[in-house]
Amino acid sequence: MKIAIASGKGGTGKTTLSVNLASLLSELYTDKNIVLVDLDVEEPNSALFLQQSILKEEIKYRNIPKWDETNCIHCGKCKEVCNFNAIAQLPKLVFIFNELCHSCYACSELCPTQSLPMKPMRMGTLQMSVISENFYFIEGKLDIGQESAVPLISQTKKFVKDNFPDKSIILYDSPPGTSCPVIEAVKDSDFVILITEPTPFGLHDLKLAIATMQAMKQIFGVVINRAGIGNNEVEKYCSENKIQILGKIPNMREIAELYSKGKLIYHEISQVENELIQIFENTKSLLEHR
Ligand code: SF4
Ligand code: SF4
Repeated sequence: MKIAIASGKGGTGKTTLSVNLASLLSELYTDKNIVLVDLDVEEPNSALFLQQSILKEEIKYRNIPKWDETNCIHCGKCKEVCNFNAIAQLPKLVFIFNELCHSCYACSELCPTQSLPMKPMRMGTLQMSVISENFYFIEGKLDIGQESAVPLISQTKKFVKDNFPDKSIILYDSPPGTSCPVIEAVKDSDFVILITEPTPFGLHDLKLAIATMQAMKQIFGVVINRAGIGNNEVEKYCSENKIQILGKIPNMREIAELYSKGKLIYHEISQVENELIQIFENTKSLLEHR
């Protein structure tokens, strides 16, 4: 089972939910491996809440074209086929903007003189840790200065697929927003939990996230964090559009204090533990009735 936890807006409690839910599931389902994957590779922070022992660390690369001027006939085909404006052509020079390149191979494949061989370029790291007997944590971390998160997200997911068998429960802590990194993180998951807060800003970005999930044909439900602040427009919107609210995490000062100390919340507040159990039960039920 692969569950992605996402939000249209950053700072709504995505990591809080991911880390607490993963830890709780590892205590409830001792016969399964629980794998928490931090796919917010531009600013991963799930690790701040976990006591971990590192098992493995890898440097990750992506391939980008490297111009070899020897046989170049300056035909301009490479610049023409690049959809990402990553190639500039001057009279005697072909210049690649590595940061803009999406590693699609088009220029390399279509160059008539094989003047653009693809070469590996370091983009970040991937770390696997163990938290408890059946609880694993995988973190992708983009190097400072790297602009494209998608290739590292994709390689991190592939690492998880290769290392954990089907009966694991995998939770993806996804990047915020609705752009390419989110699409890459969420695609091919069985279920998406969209977390939001009950404010006009929260509702605005939730609507964008819902439209994205609907376009991707993903099954999803909504969790309201900081329930009690703002207004009831999120609930009204979900009810009008037949979107299930999976659970509500209350707005409590104690939660903020525990978060600021890097502590797990459900260990200290039973109301949160009960909500997390409910969120998972509702998720399972929606999956069973899809
Ligand atoms: S497609 Fe190949 S030959 Fe043509 S300009 Fe680009 S690098 Fe040179
Ligand atoms: S590999 Fe694709 S994205 Fe990168 S420079 Fe070539 S055509 Fe552009």
